[in-house]
Amino acid sequence: MENRRPLIAGNWKMHKSILESVEFVNQLLPLVADSLVDIMIAPPFTSLFAVSEIIKDSNVDLGAQNLFWEKNGAFTGEISPLMLLSAGCRYVIIGHSERRQYFGETDETVNKKINAAMEAGLIPIFCIGETESQREEGKTFSVLDKQIKMGLEGLTLKEDRMLVIAYEPVWAIGTGKTALPGQVQEVHLYLRNLLEKTSGKRHAAAIRILYGGSVKPDNISELMALPDVDGALVGGASLNADTFSKIIHF
Ligand code: PEP
Repeated sequence: MENRRPLIAGNWKMHKSILESVEFVNQLLPLVADSLVDIMIAPPFTSLFAVSEIIKDSNVDLGAQNLFWEKNGAFTGEISPLMLLSAGCRYVIIGHSERRQYFGETDETVNKKINAAMEAGLIPIFCIGETESQREEGKTFSVLDKQIKMGLEGLTLKEDRMLVIAYEPVWAIGTGKTALPGQVQEVHLYLRNLLEKTSGKRHAAAIRILYGGSVKPDNISELMALPDVDGALVGGASLNADTFSKIIHF
């Protein structure tokens, strides 16, 4: 796996109050203190600061689930990259399929968000993936190709670890259907070759490509054994500290 340190990332989506978030991290930290992998949790915006105060001296990093690309201004309801940094974030999830599906995100807006995040020094976890019908119609690779090329357009990577890709087949998110190991490795290798073209050989070898879609304690080890899988983006199973810790200890 080259020198890619695995990253296990939890996307809480719209779950947990501030108190529930604090309770969760207090349970999680002792369970994962011995972990050798990178760990990130992405609570809702309202819990970010409270969580960051608890995890700041730990081996767990903080991420947000979205951002807006402007620095500040009349953009009611939006959150800027610098606000996320000041709340303690190191990562930000960008282009999650739920945002593309329900909130009108496009490859263009995703591109602006990735640029803004990187410029501010946040590490984007750039989500891509095909829908069930696109896979059935044999369009998986062309869909991913477009998402990667448009999402990364105009972007020059300065450091190896400043970008994470998450391959999340839409049909596997929250459905209990995990992509088969052969399907996952085929896509991840395709993405790594594509990244060589967009970002150069050295970066392509160093960028971590996570798999996401119904990851659970009982399927994580088989996924992590695949040569081009460098970690996981976990939704539902990241909401319980014991379950998430089991995934971290794959
Ligand atoms: C996700 O939200 O990114 C995700 C992969 O969800 P789940 O693990 O619940 O399928």
